[in-house]
Amino acid sequence: MNAEENASRNDYDSLCNICGKAFKSFALVLKHQKEDHTKAETKYKCDLCKRGFPTRAARIEHRDYGH
Ligand SMILES: [Zn+2]
Ligand SMILES: [Zn+2]
Repeated sequence: MNAEENASRNDYDSLCNICGKAFKSFALVLKHQKEDHTKAETKYKCDLCKRGFPTRAARIEHRDYGH
């Protein structure tokens, strides 16, 4: 087995289930979610893709134009 190839393949194995961003480890995903998805910005959530928005209007606009 090629260790280097294996390492690069697993480099961005962990995806954030909220925004789809890739991270090197699941611990980083949790850190990212804590920092980026628990602020006031995510107060209004799209029930289709779970993205968060700062205002209700922004969420409605996203649902109308973002899907
Ligand atoms: Zn995310
Ligand atoms: Zn959405």
